[in-house]
Amino acid sequence: RYNFDGGELKPYLSLEAMTAAVFDVAGQLFGLRFVERPDIAGYHPDVKVYEVRETVEGEDRLRAIFLHDNYSRQNKQSGAWMSELRAACPAQGTVPIILNNNNFAKGREGAPTLLSFDDARTLFHEFGHGCHGMLSATNFLRLAGTNVLRDFVELPSQLMEHWLAQPEVLKKHARHYKTQEAVPDELLARLKAAENFNQGFGTVEYTISALLDQSLHTVPGERAAELDIGAFEEAELARLGMPQGMAMRHRPAHFQHLFSTSAYAAAYYVYQWAEVLDADGFEAFLEAGSCFDGDTAHRARKYIYSSGNSLEPGEAYRLFRGRDPTVEPMLKKKGL
Ligand SMILES: [Zn+2]
Repeated sequence: RYNFDGGELKPYLSLEAMTAAVFDVAGQLFGLRFVERPDIAGYHPDVKVYEVRETVEGEDRLRAIFLHDNYSRQNKQSGAWMSELRAACPAQGTVPIILNNNNFAKGREGAPTLLSFDDARTLFHEFGHGCHGMLSATNFLRLAGTNVLRDFVELPSQLMEHWLAQPEVLKKHARHYKTQEAVPDELLARLKAAENFNQGFGTVEYTISALLDQSLHTVPGERAAELDIGAFEEAELARLGMPQGMAMRHRPAHFQHLFSTSAYAAAYYVYQWAEVLDADGFEAFLEAGSCFDGDTAHRARKYIYSSGNSLEPGEAYRLFRGRDPTVEPMLKKKGL
């Protein structure tokens, strides 16, 4: 419909270029420098090891060790994730050791690994979690880094995704691997149009599932045993005004996300909530006039990326943003 073929973009998004892009973003926002240390062996030959350095009061300091394990291979868990091999403890001078895993298909011998835009977004996303671990400035391990509430933990990662889509970043780093030509504006415009396709449907389908999750978890215990799940679903959808012809993304009887463990009980909303926070949070940079605005980046580091769970999350967000989050930037981002 938008005449967009992801394959057209891939030659501009080599893994090497996108890694350089995300390191550059961390440099411009937080003053971090990534120095590859090929002499430090990872747990697999594919794993790259970096020293993460920064200048503090005129002095060059080691901030963290960062491991990047980007390729899929046999026996590797699928998906993408961040792990903290060692947490930061500034009081003891312990630097964090942070690992990002992705599952990109490795380019053939001698050829670059080319990413789709979604892959590049995943790279930025996990790197955002990585920054949450690397920049942690809390002394208590239980409060450090990503040990935050579930409805705050995706803010550092989803916020980081925004920089990938910035022209300042794409025009500089998304270069054709053969010609070094910058990605054409016309291709970026088609990508942007295609990204908003079907957002209305997706948002309703998701939101209704999140609302039904809330209603299910407020059924009193004594009534739960008697609950007819099909009738409950039907009544709730009618009460919520679900549009005709649409179904929940996950019908209650197989809504594993909610019931396989208690981790997401009454918490399916967190993904959408994180989008409210990340869109509103990124807007702070745009309002300040630049996606790399120094004061905003300083507050993002202090209150979002390094405070762990040492501040109440609502308070942390207000200290960063100067107010509570609003929903409008998320609607704008989705084209709604
Ligand atoms: Zn995440």
